[in-house]
Amino acid sequence: MRKNIVAGNWKMNLDYEKGLSLFSEIVNMVKDEVVGEQEVIVCSPAIHLYSISKLAAPVAHVHVGAQNIHQAESGAYTGEISAPQVKSTGASYVILGHSERRAYFGETDTLLAEKVDAALKHGLSPIFCIGETKEEREGGNFFEVIKTQLAGGVFHLSAEEFTKVVLAYEPVWAIGTGLTASPEQAQEVHAFIRSAVAEKYGEEIADNTTILYGGSANPGNARDLFSQKDIDGGLIGGASLKSRDFLEIVKVFN
Ligand code: PGA
Repeated sequence: MRKNIVAGNWKMNLDYEKGLSLFSEIVNMVKDEVVGEQEVIVCSPAIHLYSISKLAAPVAHVHVGAQNIHQAESGAYTGEISAPQVKSTGASYVILGHSERRAYFGETDTLLAEKVDAALKHGLSPIFCIGETKEEREGGNFFEVIKTQLAGGVFHLSAEEFTKVVLAYEPVWAIGTGLTASPEQAQEVHAFIRSAVAEKYGEEIADNTTILYGGSANPGNARDLFSQKDIDGGLIGGASLKSRDFLEIVKVFN
């Protein structure tokens, strides 16, 4: 089902105690201030997953996600974390295909397709990220780049599997740079993504797909972005580390 979602991506920030206290603040604010049906997801480092999932469990519409998984279920992969391990913490989502993973850890579409399969097999919904670099935008072939990422990462799924995926359009040039895509630029790509989904899975599934925007979203620009027809919420990096800023973004859907 198409939902309004505001997801925080804490990246590699916050020690254990700080993560717990930020999450507690978020939960309390959600309880007091959120009146809509929007879903709030926090994607934390692995060390926080179990504890914050416990805090999230009693609160409607608040969920927890990881930022990566290994494609295998278990085995000799020192330092990695698997989908069933993440699931056992109480988390229900996992970010896959973030541009930082693609750029710094060499994650390819082929590998990501395996990770998407592992997530779905173990009951985690992927938040699958796609987006073009600055060069690709300037070169004008960004629609093709995005289509290739979709085709390689998620379009092998059956229609039923695909309905569990959340997509996030994150132009790489907008991530952590303070340079946000304009609402029109973002809408143009979101509409393209939805049409690519329609071409693959049909109009009904496309209409029901949640597509988030990510890249320097903040309390000042979230309303304009989220009011676009094909933008269903956001994946928030920097601004998710401040409870008040994050809540202001969540409350756009109140
Ligand atoms: P940002 O990060 O909001 O800090 O630009 C977004 C993301 O990387 O998901």
